[in-house]
Amino acid sequence: MRKLVSAGEILVEIMAERIGQSFLEPGPLLGPYPSGAPAIFIGQAAALGQPAGLIGAVGDDDFGRLNIERLRALGADVSAIAVHKGHATGTAFVTYRADASRHFVFNIRNSASGLIETDGAATNLLASADHVHVMGSSLFSDRAVAVTLSAIETVKAKGGTVSFDPNIRREIMQASGVRAALDHVLARADIFLPSGEELFLFSSAKDEKGAVDELLARGLSCIVLKKGAAGAVYHDHHGAVASSGFAVDEVDPTGAGDCFGAAFVSFWLRGAAPAEALRIANACGALAVTRKGPMEGIFPLEAVEAFIVTGNTQ
Ligand code: ADP
Repeated sequence: MRKLVSAGEILVEIMAERIGQSFLEPGPLLGPYPSGAPAIFIGQAAALGQPAGLIGAVGDDDFGRLNIERLRALGADVSAIAVHKGHATGTAFVTYRADASRHFVFNIRNSASGLIETDGAATNLLASADHVHVMGSSLFSDRAVAVTLSAIETVKAKGGTVSFDPNIRREIMQASGVRAALDHVLARADIFLPSGEELFLFSSAKDEKGAVDELLARGLSCIVLKKGAAGAVYHDHHGAVASSGFAVDEVDPTGAGDCFGAAFVSFWLRGAAPAEALRIANACGALAVTRKGPMEGIFPLEAVEAFIVTGNTQ
């Protein structure tokens, strides 16, 4: 089976317990939960049985161990996660407002994640990889951009493929060349997985069809538009396939797009038809929102298939 790799931020998420709670005063917190968009993605892909590994860095602390142990338990290759003494693992503190928006306090660039590099372990992992998945949020520093771009070129040079989820997080994407890096990644991508307005960051078209046509003409193999509870729509040069979402009670939206993307890309790599890849991806996205914590709603393939049949999220 084809092996996929991602590179980027690894962190723990700590969330306010109540909707509307603010960090301007002390209050009850939940977590730490293992997190970081590429970690969620790789964890979900591994849980579905896809060979998958992550390039990144954590501190020599319990937050780092929590992440590595969770990824290992899900079946991911953790050989290229460096452990740095004297640097703390990255963190994200999250509050949820009454209007359903999320607000983050991130510490990534100045955490162990900021030390990400293409060292010997990362080079070995890339040597066995056929596909790279890029999250825009992972372009958090010039150094992180360099690691991502070099992973893309390594895999492309041997005929591999690239997927790209813009995952725009303005709080973290502060590398000086982030805009140019986003455009570069899109130009090298085969699969593009934007959510909501992210489609229009890369096109001057005014409507969805115009933007999709313009981007497909630029060389993408396919575009998958994530549409929250409504599901997703797949586009390629032959047409479109829409797939409805699954009805679930949403308790925490963080991680849905990453779990969706991991499932779609894993099944695309296996040669599944778009409708099948979308169905599994919608199921993984839906399951992700039923648990507090971005990786708590990751399930193995058998459980995802059982959910598709029964709708049971337990
Ligand atoms: P992102 O998290 O990247 O912003 P979305 O919010 O569109 O992306 O979520 C990704 C996918 O997760 C959706 O396409 C859908 O399959 C699933 N999903 C998200 N929210 C829900 C929900 N409330 N109910 C069911 N499925 C959901």
